[in-house]
Amino acid sequence: MSDNCLFCKIVRGEIPADILYEDDDLLAFRDISPQAPVHFLVIPKKHVHGPSSVEAADEQLIGRLMRKGAEIAKKEGADHFRVVFNNGEQAGQTVFHIHMHILGGRDMSWPPG
Ligand code: AMP
Ligand code: ZN
Repeated sequence: MSDNCLFCKIVRGEIPADILYEDDDLLAFRDISPQAPVHFLVIPKKHVHGPSSVEAADEQLIGRLMRKGAEIAKKEGADHFRVVFNNGEQAGQTVFHIHMHILGGRDMSWPPG
């Protein structure tokens, strides 16, 4: 847990979120500024700064996060979806608690901007 981290505050219930799934280790909630008809984030409750900070001990946790995200996407009606992890400011990371974006429900272009 990190005191001033936005997503740790959501985990602690100090900031409201539209929660789609929660268990002991993971939390999924809708993005507050959706970029697609389906756009939600899946995070570990454990504070991890970003993809570059994932440790060997986190491998199972991040694998579960991926599987759970795909399961929720299907429930949300998005069989086709994009998965995004931003790592670092230049890549667009604005919240430094690792999060997996899942975006779906519309056509996606490639490469991303
Ligand atoms: P990133 O730019 O990859 O760090 O993504 C951070 C995401 O968090 C953005 O898509 C924001 O719209 C989203 N976000 C920021 N604050 C909140 C919040 N309070 N609840 C839900 N999503 C949020
Ligand atoms: Zn955090």
